[in-house]
Amino acid sequence: MKIRVQKFGGTSVATPELRARVVHHIRKALAEDYQVVVVVSAMGRKGEPYATDTLLGLSEAYSQSLGSREKDLLMSCGEIISATTLSSILSHHEIKNTVLTGGQAGIITNNQHANAQIITINPKRVQTELEHGRVVIVTGFQGQTTDGEVTTLGRGGSDTSATALGVALNADCVDIFTDVEGIMTADPRIVEDAAPLATVTYTEMCNLAFQGAKVIHPRAVEIAMQTNVPIRVRSTLSDDLGTLVTNMGETDRLAGEVKDLPIIGITQMPNVTQIKIPVRQGHFDSQLLVFKAMAEHGISVDFINVNPSEIAYTVNDHAGEQAKQILLDLNLEPELLPNCAKVSTVGAGIAGVPGVMAKITEALTEEDIQLLQSADSHTTIWVLVKGEDMIKAVRALHQKFDLHQLSYHI
Ligand code: ADP
Ligand code: ASP
Ligand code: MG
Repeated sequence: MKIRVQKFGGTSVATPELRARVVHHIRKALAEDYQVVVVVSAMGRKGEPYATDTLLGLSEAYSQSLGSREKDLLMSCGEIISATTLSSILSHHEIKNTVLTGGQAGIITNNQHANAQIITINPKRVQTELEHGRVVIVTGFQGQTTDGEVTTLGRGGSDTSATALGVALNADCVDIFTDVEGIMTADPRIVEDAAPLATVTYTEMCNLAFQGAKVIHPRAVEIAMQTNVPIRVRSTLSDDLGTLVTNMGETDRLAGEVKDLPIIGITQMPNVTQIKIPVRQGHFDSQLLVFKAMAEHGISVDFINVNPSEIAYTVNDHAGEQAKQILLDLNLEPELLPNCAKVSTVGAGIAGVPGVMAKITEALTEEDIQLLQSADSHTTIWVLVKGEDMIKAVRALHQKFDLHQLSYHI
């Protein structure tokens, strides 16, 4: 029998009405003769009683004294509450089901608490339950080390649980149900006329997700991409199929009528500090000193530009002061600009298309936005702007590339 993995995000399981929609989608997949694995997130968002942030809030006053192991245990409760609640509803509707924690579902991770990586999945138990005709509800966002310790996969990690299970079970598709119609040309909370896309490629989706589009966890896409398991990002509230994330879209789309519109989305990442270090003449070893020191202190660097007279890069705002002290201790003279934002223009068709950067600079200049730094790959152009300009920049770029009227919308 074919297997379908359905993941329901926090907002999709937040109310009885929404949970009725979840039952509807499960029933539909069963009616289509699928064996169904359901992955759930903790219910609701910050402020709601069983949301992950609310659970974290319980120990906020003492968070410095809560061990990382215990913090993972605390966070894992949200998904258990959500899964068992759904189990009771399915049983009420006489849909046979069973609940498995991440560990019970065979998700084995390393021991990096709060940001654990899946090492392997042993899907035996899930397969046995499916063979007994049960819907298997798996608590998202969590796994277990080989020593039996509970771990979590990083915020937003239920998507990763879903695609990893999809790969391990050889599912024909992983449906990520959420509170928007699909992957959109920008975050609809920022750009009012952002439009849902019919297809995006894995590469485009990885770029969007790594550069701040929180609609799907970046690692979830990487995992699906390795074995070409298709993902559909879709709305819990509707039966529309949403956005298909596969390899196919790229060639199909680029062969089609949209060659002149190579961009599919704009995304943003706030809270970034720009660091610039002047290089004294002849001090060619400065870059080695700088990047070695950052690595030794576990500071992740991004947006790196090195030239004979200057080293420029970015770090997360929270690492800015530490980075500055390290550089001062090396007798360097760093200049820091905190609270910047990285705005990314993404599209698999960007490579070799003339004029994309010209349009980006035109959009920013028209809005009086200073471009602090830029970089590009063959699928993305990144610009660094002041944090206060971020929303204006995203909207200006979305408009400049006419993203609300691309021809491959849903
Ligand atoms: P869930 O609880 O279902 O996991 P998330 O909050 O993690 O939902 O992700 C859905 C949210 O992602 C949307 O409400 C939307 O505001 C945001 N988002 C950011 N960028 C995009 C984008 N490019 N397309 C769609 N949604 C986006
Ligand atoms: N509940 C977890 C979080 O809020 C995981 C998820 O929602 O995917 O980060
Ligand atoms: Mg999410």
